[in-house]
Amino acid sequence: MFFDPMYFVLMIPGMLLMFWAQSRVKGTYRRYSQIPSTMGMTGAQVAQTILAKKGIREVRVEPVAGELTDHYDPGAKAVRLSQGIYNSNSLAAAAVAAHECGHVLQDFQGYRFMNLRAALVPAVNLGSRLGPMLIMAGLIFQVLNLAWLGVIFFASVLVFHIVTLPVEFDASRRALQLVDELGILQGDERKGARAVLTAAAWTYVATAFYAFLNLLYYITLINRQR
Ligand SMILES: [Zn+2]
Repeated sequence: MFFDPMYFVLMIPGMLLMFWAQSRVKGTYRRYSQIPSTMGMTGAQVAQTILAKKGIREVRVEPVAGELTDHYDPGAKAVRLSQGIYNSNSLAAAAVAAHECGHVLQDFQGYRFMNLRAALVPAVNLGSRLGPMLIMAGLIFQVLNLAWLGVIFFASVLVFHIVTLPVEFDASRRALQLVDELGILQGDERKGARAVLTAAAWTYVATAFYAFLNLLYYITLINRQR
């Protein structure tokens, strides 16, 4: 690719928001992973308790390598918690484990946005690669319709990140409700859990914003050719 100063000017707000969100999530996580909950349940116990109380027996809870790699795999029916969450009895661990269980409940209740998000994955895999290629080819060979087709393909990436937002917000909302309802966190401890989940939510907002700016850049690039 070529160097384009406009790219950096346009992307700077996206990069700043991304950097801010990443450092905030790290800071919040570090802070609340040092505060144990009164109940003292580990992340694994939190997840197992929630799943048992909700009558979900098909889903396993297992450890996974890395930091902040926690996720729910709907295909394998597994909640995977990073080592720092799985074995920790901190507020952060309870929040993250409950959040992943929020995704399990979405899966078992057929939550619409989760299904839509899953359906978009093949389109995004194609669009994120083919989109920029079509745009570049269209610009090089001066076939603007081809470039616009690339924009449509690449727009799938933005749609995906936008659909991710309600999925993540809903999982966190469910998580806070669950830790409260099941007495996993008490009183002020829920504020810590909320802080961790809010910080995580901002990283998804930053990612969507970044995808939006990227799309905007491509559109500007094509418009300049006229
Ligand atoms: Zn999530």
